[in-house]
Parts: sequence; C-alpha cells; structure tokens
Amino acid sequence: MRIIIFGAPRVGKGTQAKILSSHYKIPHISTGDILRKIIDDGKEIGLVVKDILSKGELVPDSIMKELIEKTLKSDNCKSGFILDGFPRTLAQAVLLEEIFAELKLETLFFIRIQISENVIVNRLTQRRVCANCGYIVNLNLIENHDECPSCRQLGTFTKRKDDEEEVIRHRLEVYHKTTAPILEYYKSKSDIIIIDGRKTVEEITSDIFSALEKAQSN
Ligand code: AMP
Repeated sequence: MRIIIFGAPRVGKGTQAKILSSHYKIPHISTGDILRKIIDDGKEIGLVVKDILSKGELVPDSIMKELIEKTLKSDNCKSGFILDGFPRTLAQAVLLEEIFAELKLETLFFIRIQISENVIVNRLTQRRVCANCGYIVNLNLIENHDECPSCRQLGTFTKRKDDEEEVIRHRLEVYHKTTAPILEYYKSKSDIIIIDGRKTVEEITSDIFSALEKAQSN
C-alpha cells in the first residue's frame, strides 16, 4: 500500500498517518520529522534547515530530492509507505513519479484532508509539545495546561517555533502558493480521496478506511 496524505499544515495528517502506518504495517514517512531530526543531529546542514523551518519556508527541492530518494529506495519502504509532507512542490511531485517509474511501482492513493484556514490557525497556535516525552497536545482539548497527559510531568509544554501565529500564516501562504498546484497535477492523474478534517480523529480514520477500501475495489 502506498499513500500520500495531503493537506495544509495541522489538518491532522500526522495523526492519521500514524494510525494508517500501524494498521497497514508500513512506515510513516514524515519529511517534517526527518528534517527536525537533521536539525537535532547538529551537523552543518542542520543549521541551514533550522533557519528555513523557523521562517515557515520550504527546504529547497535539491535537499529534499536526496532525502526522499534515499528513504523511498531503502528496504524499509519495500512493502509500501505513507508519505506525510511530501510532495510539497510540483517539482517534488514529478520527482516522486520518476522514483515510482524507476522502482516499477504503480498504485498510489492520494488522500486530501480538508479544513478551513481559521480552524487550522486556531489548532496550530494551541499546539504544544511535551519537552520530556515528545507528546503533542492541543490546549483546547485538555483541562490541565500544566501536566502532560502522557508522561504526567509538570510544566514541560513547549511551543514549536513554527507554530507562532505569524509563521503559521506564512506557512499557509506558502501552502496555497506552492503546494495547492499539486492538487491540479494529481487530479489529472488519479482520483483524489477527499476527507472532511473537521470531524473527530476516530471519524476521520473511519472515513479514510472506507474510502481506501472503496478505491482498492475499483
Ligand atoms: P511539517 O512537519 O510537515 O509541517 O513540516 C515542517 C516544515 O518542514 C515545513 O514548514 C517546511 O519548512 C519543511 N518541510 C517538510 N516537508 C517538506 C518538503 N517536502 N519540502 C520542503 N520543505 C519541507
């Protein structure tokens, strides 16, 4: 099974990708996570990447090309994968098609999770990450804003730099300008599965499973 999970920042792609990954037993390839790991590794390239991410800009296609080719051609991805955060530009979509041709891969399911911009901004500004265990929460959804619901540590919530409202607005601008044209590209190639992202996590998962089942039987 090979899936692209697509949508503006914070529509819930990562959450759904993790669920699909464990259900289909295929790796969840989040390019954002890979880039954050590169930053944490502390090498020189990490400094360049860190600067780009903190401004909400896109990492150049040349860096992404190397990174995605290495990942998708690894043994880990032989039985399939879920791409979260890639492709983000038309050039990346074309590159992905070239990788598919080279690896003789065919079916690719394209899932788009859709919600309005105001909901996205609200979700992003309320997102916090636990500095102790990495758990991600939305402050709107938890009562105690001091305690991590996962590891129970107090006062560990931090805000990702790219979750500041100004940066979010810029990330959305970048999304509309460079990422939305990808939809046109895929529309001409295959069916796009559209999912309503305003529903609960469980409802969205159920909608995705039903849509994938239907698409597989076609
Ligand atoms: P994400 O975690 O998917 O929201 O990505 C966080 C940030 O990583 C984005 O705002 C971009 O700066 C960068 N990024 C992630 N994926 C890509 C990509 N495919 N191409 C360029 N930049 C990316």
